Amino acid sequence: MSMKDGAVANTWRTESAAESIKLRLPEAVSPAFIRLIEEAEEADAKALRRQVFAAETEKISLPYESADPLGESRYCVTPFLVHQYTNRVLMLTSGRCLSYCRYCFRRGFTARRQGWIPDTEIEKITDYLKQNPDIKEILVSGGDPMSGTLGQLEALLKRLRQTSPELLIRLCTRAPIFAPELFTEELLQLLKSMKPLWIIPHINHPAELGFEQKKAIDSCINAGLPMQSQSVLLRGVNNSVETLCALFHTLVCMGVKPGYLFQMDLAPGTAEFRVPLSQALGLWRELRKKLSGLSLPQFAVDLPGGGGKFPLSILALYDTIVKKDDADSFSALGLDGKVYTYPV
Ligand SMILES: *Cc1c(COP(=O)(O)O)cnc(C)c1O
Repeated sequence: MSMKDGAVANTWRTESAAESIKLRLPEAVSPAFIRLIEEAEEADAKALRRQVFAAETEKISLPYESADPLGESRYCVTPFLVHQYTNRVLMLTSGRCLSYCRYCFRRGFTARRQGWIPDTEIEKITDYLKQNPDIKEILVSGGDPMSGTLGQLEALLKRLRQTSPELLIRLCTRAPIFAPELFTEELLQLLKSMKPLWIIPHINHPAELGFEQKKAIDSCINAGLPMQSQSVLLRGVNNSVETLCALFHTLVCMGVKPGYLFQMDLAPGTAEFRVPLSQALGLWRELRKKLSGLSLPQFAVDLPGGGGKFPLSILALYDTIVKKDDADSFSALGLDGKVYTYPV
């Protein structure tokens, strides 16, 4: 089965943005996140609340917004598997989340309250993996894969591991923040036994890292589970140099490599959270000056409609490249603003 032949029409992905928005994303906030909000200073509490409590503006969709902003429908090889990049696939384990982020880019899926992936669909995925040995990594995503029971997660991971002993599993979750209590000894033993496995936590604000959250992340690091975080740039939440510097530095100190900072996708009803691109690029240029290579994530956006992830750092630094007509060398502005040259 080639990527194209297997394309499956997912009804939700083909809706208009206006249609999509009629189905409201559940409003549910986990006890651990409520505790964080209650304990935070007012400015931080506001940044936390804004992520999970719906604003009126959520009902408004803009002409350029889309029910399927990443164009995943083009790459669906089964209803629960997206194969966009040659060597890695993304699996939707569940439409449920541990709390619902109001800026969700997959809200067409998460708003439908799709429960845990059926066994028959897991089998389709393992068959696909067997037929496509070039696939080296699987992103176990959703929704949140940690919204299932431990038994469901265990059965799923065991099935993947049994299918391919070398497949790299990337567990994409917001559980360390929303439900740190899930990181029990039992879960850690399970995850340890499924290596190679990385945990990819979604974390947006330093105030999300309370005592319980830090303890959960620590327990993963101590269990030898590598972690790379991802964050979304959100207006009114983390769109300041100080906030992002504090977030990325804290993560690195805990042993978590900041992986991606994402420019917002064009999901319906999320305009409220979008930082204009020109501002976002300026912000990233400042971050680059203030953070180490270790602490600085990649700044990227998924090109709307299915173009894949694009490194916005290129755009942010475009003006620092000094073009030359004879093209026998590459020149760029250094951090001190002077021109430096490297031979081609
Ligand atoms: C982001 C993404 C991946 C992973 O890409 P990386 O660059 O390896 O992080 C894989 N598949 C899909 C569909 C994705 O959106």
